Amino acid sequence: MSAPPLPPVDPDSLPRANTRAVALRLTPAAERTVRAGHPWVFETSITSASHAAEPGDRVVVFDRKKRFLAAGLHDPEGPIRARLLVHGAAAAIGPDLYRARIAAALELRRGVSSPQTTGFRVVHGESDGMSGLVADLYDRTLVLELFSTAWVPHLRDLVSAFEELLPLDRVVLLVSRAVASSTHTPPSLTEGGVLSGDPFEGGVPFLEEGLNFEAHPGEGHKTGFYLDQRENRRRLGTVARGKRVLNVFSYTGGFSLHAARGGASEVVSVDRADPVLAQARRHFELNASDPQVRACRHRTVKGDAFEVMTEMAEQRESFDIVVIDPPSFTRSASHRPQALAAYARLTGLALPLLPKGGLLVQASCSSRVAADDFYATLHRAARSAGRPLHEVERTGHAPDHPIRFPEGEYLKCLWARA
Ligand code: SAH
Repeated sequence: MSAPPLPPVDPDSLPRANTRAVALRLTPAAERTVRAGHPWVFETSITSASHAAEPGDRVVVFDRKKRFLAAGLHDPEGPIRARLLVHGAAAAIGPDLYRARIAAALELRRGVSSPQTTGFRVVHGESDGMSGLVADLYDRTLVLELFSTAWVPHLRDLVSAFEELLPLDRVVLLVSRAVASSTHTPPSLTEGGVLSGDPFEGGVPFLEEGLNFEAHPGEGHKTGFYLDQRENRRRLGTVARGKRVLNVFSYTGGFSLHAARGGASEVVSVDRADPVLAQARRHFELNASDPQVRACRHRTVKGDAFEVMTEMAEQRESFDIVVIDPPSFTRSASHRPQALAAYARLTGLALPLLPKGGLLVQASCSSRVAADDFYATLHRAARSAGRPLHEVERTGHAPDHPIRFPEGEYLKCLWARA
């Protein structure tokens, strides 16, 4: 993986929010939702605004009796017009609040972070009271990802707050596709950049359950690693001893390494992207001091997952465990049927590769596909292939990805015997 290094960005050069807050009134239905603690105000539910706001300006929501309901930041784009950070009792939105939120988030993750696991999500957006903001830590590198331009004028305060609470070498900024293409985003931010500390090139090393990995911030995959699958990777490691494992949509081999360290005899990583497979092989090298990783035969196969699995079945290849962790397949809600069809096809392609009793581990990371639909689709596909699945477990996000509002739910994973 070899994207050009991210340029330095001076947070002091970024715009500042206006000091005057915008007062909002909402429809009765939206008032109820906000009163219940929901972090979003949709444009369509605003009945009045005191004046026009700039991105990141503070907004205060009042009810019909002019009582304080909530406060947050103005988001000029998309259907969400305000990102609410404070509910019920008024509190100033600024450095003290950010510090308190980050400290609370770190407290929640005490069971995740350890000398053996130095890569974890520190702030998971709405579920940590910071709507539209993600912060992932890779050892001493913090990667912030903005899903809303509302945070741009607050980056300076955010960086200081994180630096106060964590020992950091650098703070890297990434922006979502929507933020990058926004006319409100300063040109210096559209590619992301290094907000503080030393520049870096290549991968950022960190540990996951004692395994050496490298994250690649800015290369288009999350903040550089799929931290949300940690718990599922760890679980795979506990059932992999002596097994032949196929890891489809492997990315940089997270599942592959955990299987190998768990004693898998052979792991095959399949992905359509060459650079991620090269990084998967590098991850095996980085962990070669582990005797189980060294003893595991690892092979990478570049190609389209659907085609590779079809060919493998034609070749009568067989695996004890097949892991399928595809991209979301849903850019919008209208893609839901296609996504479900793709999940069903993948189940159908995995089953011929598994002997009776073999383990299928299949995930969906799409928030637009409901868990029930996902599990039912996989079961239906297996039944119609004449290989009904015997469910072992349903799992989800790692605990550093807490879910405190319904729209936050996305990752689901079926563990089933073929
Ligand atoms: N399981 C991984 C994350 C998977 S991300 C982990 O734990 O780290 C999804 C991966 O699927 C990406 O690496 C992407 O390159 C790959 N991909 C997307 N579409 C594909 C396709 N049709 N065939 C093969 N790989 C594909």
